[in-house]
Amino acid sequence: MKKVIFVVSFFLFFINSYSESLEKYKKDINLNSLINELEERLDKSLIPTPDSKIDKALQEDPRYYLKVTAKDKYERTRLLELGYDIISIGNGYVEGFINKNLMSNISDKEFSIMEKKSLYEWAYQNKDFPSQDSAYHNYQETYDVLKQIADKNGDIVSLFSIGKSFEGRDIWAVRINTTSKGKAASKKPGVLIVGNHHSREHLTNEMVLLFAVYLLENRGELEIKKYIDTLDIYIIPMLNPDGVEYDIATGKYRYWRKNTNKLGGTSVVGVDLNRNYDFEWCKAGASSYQSADTYCGKSAFSEPESKALRDFMTERKNIKTALTYHSYSSLVLYPWGGRDTQVSDEKDRTAFIKHAEEMAKILGYQPQQSSDLYVASGDMADWAYDKLKVLAWTIELEGSSFYPGSTIISKAFERNKKACLYLLSITDNPYK
Ligand SMILES: [Zn+2]
Repeated sequence: MKKVIFVVSFFLFFINSYSESLEKYKKDINLNSLINELEERLDKSLIPTPDSKIDKALQEDPRYYLKVTAKDKYERTRLLELGYDIISIGNGYVEGFINKNLMSNISDKEFSIMEKKSLYEWAYQNKDFPSQDSAYHNYQETYDVLKQIADKNGDIVSLFSIGKSFEGRDIWAVRINTTSKGKAASKKPGVLIVGNHHSREHLTNEMVLLFAVYLLENRGELEIKKYIDTLDIYIIPMLNPDGVEYDIATGKYRYWRKNTNKLGGTSVVGVDLNRNYDFEWCKAGASSYQSADTYCGKSAFSEPESKALRDFMTERKNIKTALTYHSYSSLVLYPWGGRDTQVSDEKDRTAFIKHAEEMAKILGYQPQQSSDLYVASGDMADWAYDKLKVLAWTIELEGSSFYPGSTIISKAFERNKKACLYLLSITDNPYK
């Protein structure tokens, strides 16, 4: 009986959430209502609330939280190669995750462990639950917003899929162009903004999605109109939809970073999409251990998501600049990430540094070469620059957690929309 009541109430819960979300999308999408909603929805959940079954998923997660001594970027790079996933960098130490079967890699001779907890213990002690974060847009909600803005601005917006994820979800892109529609080529300088390579970095989806809404809502304003008239603007908020859904599927965050590739088996293993690009693939700072959070995959571009972005960018020779969003550290990064040397072309290097500094100034973040943090090979920005000469920056958003709550969204967006506008302003000629 108890079970029946549970099932019925669960069902009612879904019906309720479903009609609530329908109600929500009947209204016109606009930036203010989205942002107000973010704040109003703090207590309401569109994600099923946790139950004991759900706790089990986190309890059974084989990863551990470790605080480990690491004095410089070389030690940090070494840790990544041993299968450790760095989530924050402190003075003389790092914090991060490691699968328990790789724990012995962090030998006491090389590194000393300052703190160790199961992921479950650590998550419980530190973090919020998803019910408090229903303001964030999941896969379907993200699509719904994209669809609305595309319908409303049908004269200049095309919405299409750049390919399917491992589980078969479409990876949606919005294109803003006054003269070319759909996938047709354009001679205008192109710009790409992409979010959510990493599942748990949900704030990145919000930044990219809200930027699309913001641009279209203000399409009549002088500065924005100029960009819309002269550029070919591509916006992909969620590159890794499977990972995002997997991260929130239990009602408690899983701290999931990778995609959900099962690698031929029956359970989710996952590949780090931002270690899967073909630039110094799986060399420094990437791990060949499947259970590692920084697992680089079986080969470069083994994953449908990174492959989709590769093909998308390769087919669009007009793309000049790109921004790829991650969280968190408040940084603006530029290549190389996978090499411990500077970009050798002076003109490009100057442009990378100059615009990183400008964007960092706007954001109040820190500009730096990506590999100054640690060397990490196979990322999107390195590949895009190396193969396509696209000037690509990585923004590591603000906050001090992967799950910084909903109130950060509007504050972070205020700053990031200006950085994105700056990127648009330099796209016609990043060298001037
Ligand atoms: Zn990331």
